[in-house]
Amino acid sequence: MNPHKPFSVASDRRPADGTQNRDGAAKPSREEAEAAVRTLIQWAGDDPEREGLRDTPRRVVDAYREFFSGYQADPAEILRRTFTETDGYDEMVLLRDIRFESHCEHHLAPIIGRAHVAYLPHRRVVGISKLARLVEAFAKRLQIQEKMTAQIANTIAEILEPLGVAVVIEAAHQCMTTRGVHKPGVVMVTSRMLGAFRDDAATRREFLAMIGKPAGAEVPLG
Ligand SMILES: [Zn+2]
Repeated sequence: MNPHKPFSVASDRRPADGTQNRDGAAKPSREEAEAAVRTLIQWAGDDPEREGLRDTPRRVVDAYREFFSGYQADPAEILRRTFTETDGYDEMVLLRDIRFESHCEHHLAPIIGRAHVAYLPHRRVVGISKLARLVEAFAKRLQIQEKMTAQIANTIAEILEPLGVAVVIEAAHQCMTTRGVHKPGVVMVTSRMLGAFRDDAATRREFLAMIGKPAGAEVPLG
């Protein structure tokens, strides 16, 4: 018998979050986007008309579509589609080492890392690939790691209504390694613990042991 109780969080997964120009009205045209890349090439000090750079604006705009495809995803919908009855399963569900690539919203520089996502089911479980897709939906946007960690946890809490959610993200920020303070090898760790993972030290310890982190290694986000 599971001793943990349901809980609720005020989710910050507003529909308008990062999707402001989904309607297409405010979105620039492809030509405008390519012109902006040409301007940045000139700003860097090169000639966008030289042969090696002529197709670069087109390639960069294509890459942006891939880097930021998360704006087209609806994170809540990913979890909603396939939930099933748990048949009494009330143990932790954990997806460990979900690799992701994101971009920091301050420098547009890559953030490369891994997410560990766990929840304690109450009534619903979800196909485990959906947790990876959820991480992807938030990673493929302009991000800060703290916000991404909270968004993943809050969306699971809101849609699956589990007894607890734990999200730990470890990532390297290329805006720290290739510019600014130039500190390669630095990994930032953030965590968001909700429900049983927040209130029950044994549940939290079990999760941290499963992802290979000693207790106390987590960095709470308040
Ligand atoms: Zn940055």
